[in-house]
Amino acid sequence: MDYIYADNAATTAVSETALNAMLPFFRGNYGNPSSLHSVGQRANEALIAARETVAKVLNADAKEIIFTSGGSEADNQAIVTAADIGAKKGKKHIVSTAFEHHAVLHTLRKLEKQGYEVTLLDVHENGIVTPEEVAAAIREDTCLVTVMFANNEIGTVQPIKEIGAVCREKKVLFHTDAVQAAGHLHIDVKDMNVDMLSISGHKFHGPKGVGALYARRGILLSSIIEGGAQERGKRAGTENLPAIVGMAAALEEAAAHLDENAAKERRVRDQLIEGLSEIEHCVLNGDRERRLPGNVNFCFEGIEGESILLLLDDKGIAASSGSACTSGSLEPSHVLLAIGRPHEIAHGSLRLSIDETATEEQAAYIIEAVKDTVALLRSMSPVWRDLKSGKQQFITK
Ligand SMILES: *Cc1c(COP(=O)(O)O)cnc(C)c1O
Repeated sequence: MDYIYADNAATTAVSETALNAMLPFFRGNYGNPSSLHSVGQRANEALIAARETVAKVLNADAKEIIFTSGGSEADNQAIVTAADIGAKKGKKHIVSTAFEHHAVLHTLRKLEKQGYEVTLLDVHENGIVTPEEVAAAIREDTCLVTVMFANNEIGTVQPIKEIGAVCREKKVLFHTDAVQAAGHLHIDVKDMNVDMLSISGHKFHGPKGVGALYARRGILLSSIIEGGAQERGKRAGTENLPAIVGMAAALEEAAAHLDENAAKERRVRDQLIEGLSEIEHCVLNGDRERRLPGNVNFCFEGIEGESILLLLDDKGIAASSGSACTSGSLEPSHVLLAIGRPHEIAHGSLRLSIDETATEEQAAYIIEAVKDTVALLRSMSPVWRDLKSGKQQFITK
């Protein structure tokens, strides 16, 4: 069997459509959109079209979209913007959750050092924050609520529309990191009461190094990169036009096939969840239903995450233990700790993130490979021996 790539939450392959859309902008149409001559103007037309495409998919206005270098930059800029707006009114309190992406958490940490106060909400065992808890955390001096649309490790989908309604009612800016949601779930910034939203091209079969930030009309974005007047003066630097065009094409394509792709993924995802649940002493991470169509995440007691990944790689399966950003570090995932998994089992996590090309045959192969690998690792694990002999208590059922 061919290599099975089950790490689409880390990054995806660029689609044929996106690649073909990009190619003319490397050599034929290579102008700088800011140039006044016709070569530049042709490039600018493509930039305008890409902005309109992205806006349309999100139900935003083209003026409300700026292009960035990716999801991380969009998250940084959204949060800094809300912090700056808040500071002018003496409001320096931010509400977020404990399991955000580090692009959000580390930006918040930086703001804390600058005198802001941050409340990180509990996400419970199911990995979902409630609108009521958001409402209860908002204070007189709250300038921003930032809650991710879908979690990149455990795939749980938050009640964004309801959280947005709470923020609207309390007149607090609401940002959502929709990097895992865009191209996979329906997004409507107006209907969902979202003020700012981040997306990233490479999570939906677009290229890497490009993203977009939606900011509702009336929100004055703070620049985090100074220089020229590109992106209406809010994001300096010559636009990465091939990537922007590729991202727009990928997003449009994903949106056009969203329901059928999600249905295909869900079928394979559910097969994986059912198959892997047969392994003794394991636990599914994240709500069973309210999760991304392509996300599977388990903890297996008595093994270490890194070794399972290497052995699966030998069997031709690319998987992950969590986010690409934290793998390689010895700290267990902050997401798994946030949903209450103890250190002992948070280390034995496996994330499989499939795309619409995944098949039932591949899922069957993955299930057998994971079963064999878990059994092999447990047979060599002193922790597993202690658990089996009763010297140590099992945490999972
Ligand atoms: C991948 C990811 C990011 C970072 O996006 P980049 O384009 O890689 O900077 C941010 N948030 C979430 C939820 C992600 O999955």
